[in-house]
Amino acid sequence: MKKELKDFSSYFVQNIGSKKGPISPCIVNSASFSYGDSNTAEGIFEGSIKNSLYSRMGNPTTKRLETILAGMDKGVGAVVTSSGMAAISLACMSLLNASDEVICIGGLFGGTYSFFKETMFRFGIKTHFLNASQTKDIESLINEKSKIIYFESIGNPNMRIVEIDNIVQIAKKYNIATIIDNTSTPLTLQPLGMGIDIAIYSTTKIISGNSSALGGVAVFRGINKKDDKFKSDKFKDIHKFIKNKGEIALVVNARKRALRDFGMSASAFNSYLTLLGLETLAIRTNFIANSTKKIVKALSKAGMKVNHPLLKNHSDNKLYKKYFKNGCGTVFTIDFGVKKRAYEFINNLKFAFVTANISDSRTLALHMDSTIFNDFSKDEKEFLGIGKGLVRISVGLENPDDIIADFLHSYTAFSTS
Ligand SMILES: *Cc1c(COP(=O)(O)O)cnc(C)c1O
Repeated sequence: MKKELKDFSSYFVQNIGSKKGPISPCIVNSASFSYGDSNTAEGIFEGSIKNSLYSRMGNPTTKRLETILAGMDKGVGAVVTSSGMAAISLACMSLLNASDEVICIGGLFGGTYSFFKETMFRFGIKTHFLNASQTKDIESLINEKSKIIYFESIGNPNMRIVEIDNIVQIAKKYNIATIIDNTSTPLTLQPLGMGIDIAIYSTTKIISGNSSALGGVAVFRGINKKDDKFKSDKFKDIHKFIKNKGEIALVVNARKRALRDFGMSASAFNSYLTLLGLETLAIRTNFIANSTKKIVKALSKAGMKVNHPLLKNHSDNKLYKKYFKNGCGTVFTIDFGVKKRAYEFINNLKFAFVTANISDSRTLALHMDSTIFNDFSKDEKEFLGIGKGLVRISVGLENPDDIIADFLHSYTAFSTS
């Protein structure tokens, strides 16, 4: 393809097949690989021969997926992992040392919040949590230990959006790595193009799209030839990779310091299933984004307390218009005030599956307080925006008019009784 494509990423992710030979990707389900002879073995371990070494460090099927996901975001490389949480662990643990500090800003997925708050804390890493409106407070928290600024493209489930351009500038000024969780908005938001260093995805969600495979990926930008924040003293542990591997240093560092040492590797079969999801990602993303807009507007008009940044009364409506011209994924929430009404609504729905997943081909609904956040403290729930009657909806591929009819039916069934 010589000509610049109008929709490069959509074209790219759909092309999982080979133009010669088997069209569906091959599953190489071998844990280990025979090197043939000692000289080849030496070359593989030292990196001059590119054959497979051992499936914990890399697998041909998974590599195919890594190449496509790196291309989707125009990164220099990607590491595919066994889950989305594994991708977050990989990216963070490959950069952090004991006594380093992290700044999280905006809404956070429950697992991510407890990863930083509880688990990273046990390893001597302190995390500061700011809400989406506190971008201007970031600088006051920065010190020589600040290593990572972490945020989500759109907070799950609080639907907040952060001022990404400001964060990127601050991080650059103070040599701090930026990591975005772009799980909800692949293809829609292009994080590396905006100057973010690492993009994380739980591929379990819309990338696979049908609940068949747990998976994750971290996509990395290239190290610049001249100035680069990763060449500062703060990141001295990866300087040897920059020296030996150049622009792909962050990828090599993640592979060695996390994938090899912690072993959160993906299975070839899950990588295969995820590749199949990519074939239809672009069309599903578009379809559901349009459905979500239509449903959010209709439910809001009918008087339901809908939380979605496309609504004019939402605090991040301006940022939504700035960053999300093609919608911001599949999720919105409805606040029913109290648990009883939330339960009545969910239990009356014909369409929704009651589950703790998002961005599936089916419509999903879940009461937040009693499930994902049941062991969170009152303060934590307040910070994450989890009220007693909050229901998270993830829109699927059904006809949006049918979803609206089902939701309004369930809403009126108990609101009038
Ligand atoms: C689901 C999810 C994760 C975790 O992904 P898993 O594949 O379940 O480990 C992380 N971030 C966001 C935004 C998610 O929705």
